[in-house]
Amino acid sequence: MNVLVINCGSSSLKYQLIDSESEAVLAKGLCERIGIDGRLVYQKAGLDKEITDAPMPSHKEAIQLVLDALTNDKTGAIKSLKEVDAIGHRVVHGGEKFASSAVITDDMIKAIEECNELAPLHNPANLIGIRVCQELMPGVPNVAVFDTAFHQTMPPKAYLYGLPVEYYNKYKVRRYGFHGTSHSFVSKRAIEFLGLDKDNSKVIVCHLGNGSSISAVVNGKCVDTTMGLTPLEGLIMGTRSGNIDPAIMEYVGKKENLDLAGIMNVLNKKSGLLGLSGGVSSDMRDLEAAAEGGNQNARNALDVLAYQVTKFVGGYVAAMNGVDAIVFTAGIGENDGNLRKAVVANLGYLGICLDEDANKKRGEDIVISTPDSKVKVAVIPTNEELAICRDTVALVK
Ligand code: ADP
Repeated sequence: MNVLVINCGSSSLKYQLIDSESEAVLAKGLCERIGIDGRLVYQKAGLDKEITDAPMPSHKEAIQLVLDALTNDKTGAIKSLKEVDAIGHRVVHGGEKFASSAVITDDMIKAIEECNELAPLHNPANLIGIRVCQELMPGVPNVAVFDTAFHQTMPPKAYLYGLPVEYYNKYKVRRYGFHGTSHSFVSKRAIEFLGLDKDNSKVIVCHLGNGSSISAVVNGKCVDTTMGLTPLEGLIMGTRSGNIDPAIMEYVGKKENLDLAGIMNVLNKKSGLLGLSGGVSSDMRDLEAAAEGGNQNARNALDVLAYQVTKFVGGYVAAMNGVDAIVFTAGIGENDGNLRKAVVANLGYLGICLDEDANKKRGEDIVISTPDSKVKVAVIPTNEELAICRDTVALVK
């Protein structure tokens, strides 16, 4: 079965065509600058990337260009669109309505629309992608895979905020969590790869990328995660602040003459590693280079991230009353041995010791704790597209 995986953002769109039997990526790429001018990146497996500037006034033209590229005579991965058997869409917010992936129907589209308010930048774009695929490929089943679904198993004590309860009752203000597709994929893979008993396992997944979140997973089910109503909560990220004292918003707003929208812009786009490093970068590679060159702000940003990861891991060990495995994933988690080393250095109380040589390897599932460590620490590359493909196949087969 060939599954087209679509991840539609407000002005961009990532796609992969995956053969679900072999799980091979037949072609992949992205559309950038939709609604501005437009650029298509397309890469068939085994061939070089093709980059084409092409007008994309809306997502409709963008998806049409993707379909044209996939079926192109010379470099297409398939001969005709009849070879696309199903489409899997990433949808950011499923609110409390969706605890798992679902085949898209008219009623479901309405239910997703009702979650738009919770993710005003993302959900409307995801829905556009769904509608355009329905229009351009009639009869092909579409499946929605939600970033929030995996976290719906959190108990009330983990998802309720200490706010007047009517905000939850009236407006569904609660913690939802994000990156669920990645946390689900990586925690499942960890159980398999590390030979844990699925029904008797405690796993912590550290998804550390541009956006970062950590989850606590007991017997394959999420019991807590660091992101909240929105992806702003939790760890310091590339440009997001993560947890702060909410009173800072009023205090700084007055000092800097910023309204709420201005403050939110600072917290989402100008804070985190970028803000704390004094504008050096939101990228760990740049920060590490700057810190090595003696930049103290960059050093502080790196230290704050490692310290916060260590604290959340410790908190989740307590919440779960133990842990069998701690797993690192995503851009930073998979590639940054220094960050992992800094976190593991403070996990001696769990009987964990770092295997320094293993910690230098990259690009594969690997255990980075020594064989005599009491808790396993591993690096497992995430693959959200493959997870979306698998869910899609399971639902349409
Ligand atoms: P996103 O959340 O946008 O999907 P990724 O998971 O791709 O982000 O992570 C991107 C981040 O990964 C970059 O900003 C960078 O900080 C980090 N990263 C990527 N490669 C390396 C590396 N070799 N060493 C350290 N950090 C890296």
